[in-house]
Amino acid sequence: MNSTHKSTTGKLDAVLRGIPRVELAHTPTPLEYMSRLSAKYEGIELYVKRDDCTGLGFGGNKVRQIEFYLGDALDKGCDTVLSTGAVQSNYMRTIAAAASKLGLECHIQLENRVDNRSTDYQNSGNRLLTGMFGATIHHYADGEDEQGADGEINRIADELKQKGRKPYVIPLAPVKEPKGALGYIVAAQELIEQFAQQKFAPDLIVVGSGSGLTQAGLLFGLRLHGSSVAVLGACVRRNKALQFSRIKSHCWNLSAMLKLSALVKDEDIWTDDSALAPGYGKMSTHVNRAIHMAATCEGLLLDPVYSGKTLACAIKLIEDGSLSRFRKIVVIHTGGTPAIFAYRNEMARIGQTD
Ligand SMILES: *Cc1c(COP(=O)(O)O)cnc(C)c1O
Repeated sequence: MNSTHKSTTGKLDAVLRGIPRVELAHTPTPLEYMSRLSAKYEGIELYVKRDDCTGLGFGGNKVRQIEFYLGDALDKGCDTVLSTGAVQSNYMRTIAAAASKLGLECHIQLENRVDNRSTDYQNSGNRLLTGMFGATIHHYADGEDEQGADGEINRIADELKQKGRKPYVIPLAPVKEPKGALGYIVAAQELIEQFAQQKFAPDLIVVGSGSGLTQAGLLFGLRLHGSSVAVLGACVRRNKALQFSRIKSHCWNLSAMLKLSALVKDEDIWTDDSALAPGYGKMSTHVNRAIHMAATCEGLLLDPVYSGKTLACAIKLIEDGSLSRFRKIVVIHTGGTPAIFAYRNEMARIGQTD
């Protein structure tokens, strides 16, 4: 390895020194060229970073994020982990898988965030797997009340404490210490190493943006290593203005947490909500088409909530000319594949245009 690689690694080690982490993800995940999808767009090269292949419990971006929460939980001697999310949350599935592997008791609260009462949505996909990992399931009726849901999961944690357990809560709402983003500071270094190995420099990285921890961590990590590549956050949950504020505040909190100067400037933060409609967890013709294209051109499985929306956003902006200044584009496949089975009715219509 050359000297740049060494200094990059040294920088990351210094930044993360003393922060507890438990390694759970299979890394590095592959960085692949999508030749048949790229062939559809003249002058554009599309690559995919396969973070759907992080291994644990069907993988995805949350495996990288929870390395830091569960590292902290183990460091504090906790024996029980709790969190709250949507019925089809990839996050909750991944936490439950990690808890099993680490021998922690797990309590998962599921919120009704999507008005989908189909048997598949309520029972299959991530919900099925979360149960298989042995998590105790709780329910929360409201899906748009992050503070309320966190309040309730903290109340359950207090009850467990009364019973002698040592609970650790992974919060849903933004907090002062966005630990999950650290996983993507690590991923940024991994990407930079892969760009060097594969001898290419991307002009743009596109990533799904929900809680915003992935986008913020990636952006922060890239700037930390001196990369100025553009990062586009495809909004999956809320509009681009709200998402922009979220990313900005995560980046501020990361700087404070890691005692670094502000690495990310306002003009670095780019959010786009072109593919968000009709809302979180809901399909559209754009998402249908993106999932179809990935499946039939590349043998890649995308989900309707995150990775399908992310590619739909990229395709929309490529086709309307908004990305004409970029040539080499990397799309992060953040996982979410179990949701395909929860959306079985919608998936059966993939490739149909009416
Ligand atoms: C959670 C999730 C995202 C969004 O990541 P954030 O860090 O919450 O912004 C994207 N894709 C998948 C599959 C996810 O589960």
